[in-house]
Amino acid sequence: DNRNKESVKDMLDDVISLLKSQAKLQNINLKLDKNISGFVLCDRSQIKQVLINLVKNAIEAMDDEGTIEMKVQSSHSKIIIDVIDEGPGIPEEVIHKLGEPFFTTKQNGTGLGLMITKQILDKHEGKLDILKNNDKGSTFRISLPTA
Ligand code: ADP
Ligand code: MG
Repeated sequence: DNRNKESVKDMLDDVISLLKSQAKLQNINLKLDKNISGFVLCDRSQIKQVLINLVKNAIEAMDDEGTIEMKVQSSHSKIIIDVIDEGPGIPEEVIHKLGEPFFTTKQNGTGLGLMITKQILDKHEGKLDILKNNDKGSTFRISLPTA
């Protein structure tokens, strides 16, 4: 384990530079909240892996164009990072299977991304929630303790 006090904004900036060319191929705009603040005590590469998994899933869920928004709320005790997509959403009957090893609906999916995501968040005393957006798509919400 290799935990340090890491800036949430820094990690999100890194993830966006890693994935923006992939997003651009699908005309997807990766939009990051302005004025993000907050620090978490974490293994930087692992939390970046979590964010990469969620943004990649969001890109894969949206076929043609649109916006993936990342929003951050930070308080004295916890930080919430939302990855909000405009994809088709998740059918009620599969939502409880997300994060089970090898559960995928993709032709070339591994079904491991969300399992790893949950494991990493668990180790960091955090969690993952999956929410249904009002208009369209889903929000994958990470909560982590503030450093
Ligand atoms: P994989 O991406 O290899 O399929 P994941 O564990 O990352 O594995 O995701 C498991 C499944 O969860 C996906 O196959 C998909 O059905 C569903 N899923 C994940 N993220 C989203 C999303 N943003 N919108 C709709 N479905 C999603
Ligand atoms: Mg995935």
